[in-house]
Amino acid sequence: MKSLENKVAVVTGSTSGIGLAIAQRMAHAGAEIVMNGFGDPAEIERTREALAASAKVPVHFIPADLSKGAEAQMLIRQAIAIAKRVDILVNNAGIQHVASIPEFPDEKWDAVIAINLSSAFHTSKIALADMQKRGWGRVINIASAHGLVASVNKSAYVAAKHGIVGLTKVTALENAKTNITCNAICPGWVDTPLVRKQIEARAAAQSISVEEATQQLVGEKQPSERFVSPEHLAELAVFLCSEAGSSITGSSYTMDGGWTAQ
Ligand code: NAD
Repeated sequence: MKSLENKVAVVTGSTSGIGLAIAQRMAHAGAEIVMNGFGDPAEIERTREALAASAKVPVHFIPADLSKGAEAQMLIRQAIAIAKRVDILVNNAGIQHVASIPEFPDEKWDAVIAINLSSAFHTSKIALADMQKRGWGRVINIASAHGLVASVNKSAYVAAKHGIVGLTKVTALENAKTNITCNAICPGWVDTPLVRKQIEARAAAQSISVEEATQQLVGEKQPSERFVSPEHLAELAVFLCSEAGSSITGSSYTMDGGWTAQ
């Protein structure tokens, strides 16, 4: 039997990057998957179909906009309506905006906080009530090294990621006597569209190549000088869902090539 057989996993922001890798790994571990996120509908449908075929599990897609609390709650209600329950919730959807505080647009602040932090409250609120009926669940919040340490020009992102580390602890404590756990994963730099945008902006601003900008960006913070792999993050997420993970709760797991060890 596969480790996540008979489990239903909702992964927010799973049309791309880390969320997609987690959805794929969890599907191959046997979980029924609910995908969510933005993107070209035809491409999302191809990804959904390919995953269902290769992993031989039902894979659904629910296109909720997680900047809106009501849609985040609706995502979980619809997942329960379609798949009958939610056993695993991975709060992964996220965006970035880079600017100093005086120059930070108000609407960008609101969007980063809404998507990177508040959406996890709204999804957890509905999912936890469902998990509590069965006394088993796994909530995994994808935070960041920026959930533990700060960088300049990322006020909203750092505030949201520190916030989600706090939300992780409260979720863990409120459910500590059950088999519902909640943990945060704190990646360093991962090569995804979210980071590509920052690399391209740096290359343009300094008139340097994308390769040079990549080396600068990763080398500045991450002693390994290598990107963290989405597949390795996905392995950690699956481990946290295992029986061996049942006493791990309220933790923040770094996978950051040494970033926060400094
Ligand atoms: P990505 O841009 O590849 O993926 C982000 C996902 O979120 C996409 O599926 C996108 O469609 C979805 N999304 C964005 N806004 C949404 C909204 N309003 N409603 C629903 N879905 C929405 O980025 P990624 O790097 O894979 O990021 C995933 C998570 O990992 C984020 O929370 C990010 O902060 C975190 N993270 C990323 C890195 C990194 O280096 N890439 C490092 C640490 C943490």
